[in-house]
Amino acid sequence: MSTGRLHIDLGAIADNWRALDAMTQAETGAVVKADGYGMGAAPVSLALAQAGCRRFFVAVAEEGAAVRQAIGPGPMICVFGGHMAGDAALIRDHQLTPMINSVDQMLRHVEALPGHPFGIQLDTGMNRLGMEPAEWAALRDIALAQNPVLIMSHLACGEDPAHSMNMQQLHAFTQMTDGLNVPRSLSATGGIFLGTNYHFDLVRPGIGLYGGLPFIDAKPVVGIDLPVIQVRELDAGETVGYANYFTAPHPMRVATVSGGYADGLIRIIGTGGLGQVHAGDIACPTVGKVSMDLITVDVTHLAEIPDTLSILGRNQSIDTLAGAAQTISHEILTSLGARYTRSYHE
Ligand SMILES: *Cc1c(COP(=O)(O)O)cnc(C)c1O
Repeated sequence: MSTGRLHIDLGAIADNWRALDAMTQAETGAVVKADGYGMGAAPVSLALAQAGCRRFFVAVAEEGAAVRQAIGPGPMICVFGGHMAGDAALIRDHQLTPMINSVDQMLRHVEALPGHPFGIQLDTGMNRLGMEPAEWAALRDIALAQNPVLIMSHLACGEDPAHSMNMQQLHAFTQMTDGLNVPRSLSATGGIFLGTNYHFDLVRPGIGLYGGLPFIDAKPVVGIDLPVIQVRELDAGETVGYANYFTAPHPMRVATVSGGYADGLIRIIGTGGLGQVHAGDIACPTVGKVSMDLITVDVTHLAEIPDTLSILGRNQSIDTLAGAAQTISHEILTSLGARYTRSYHE
């Protein structure tokens, strides 16, 4: 097998959900958008449903339909994008719950699917999705008469406990929703760690389930092993890869592994000077530019060349790799792509 191997620990995802759930009196949902953060929306949702999760969140209706097919009837599947034009049949047939973002969406929803459950998304300062205070004030009584099942908003800086934006948004959210007697949700993973006054009735972690910060104690979920295709000896002064980006300062041994930027292992990993893979517990720095399908690695110090080198696993977390790639773990996971040989563990 010559493609990278992606190991996904569904048991760890379920354990992370249980651990987050134990930190709050609120109900704990699960965000499974973008194909379950690249881990597979169907197997991830099924594992979480079996662990007791009753509320799932996706970005768009098509994703919700796939989750419904995986988990069957019962649990609520909420759509952050709301009720978009042309979505009525999907929403009805798969019993999805759109989070209504505007007066237009509200009208569309009650016209197309009268009586069909919906939630409300409010904008408390992020300026991305949801109704702003004035729009909500105008629609509020009409919307409440239709019995929304959830009112939610989203924190812009939830992973930074010191940021004053958190308290501003908390204040705006309570101002817009106090006394309405509808279940409320404000917090993703980061908000769970801001304290119980951010939890309301439902929290909706995403990245924490998949082993990412700011859930420091999360169990790792993802491992990636890249097969070694070739090993070569270099003389001092020889160069490696595109643009002659790396020059051997001394005689070296370099391994070429199967996996590259088309597999979400983006180029900056190779040019930022921080990229590394592991042979067992021994770190091996990447050298040269990452190619579309290949990465070159300094293995001079290894006594023996293994069949595979690990780029994600117990020695390198998704957040460490994200740091080397100057991004966040969410982007690492959702960029991994379809070429890996995937295996799921319970
Ligand atoms: C993606 C998303 C989440 C989950 O965020 P994490 O940081 O991954 O926990 C929650 N709510 C909304 C609205 C989102 O877009």
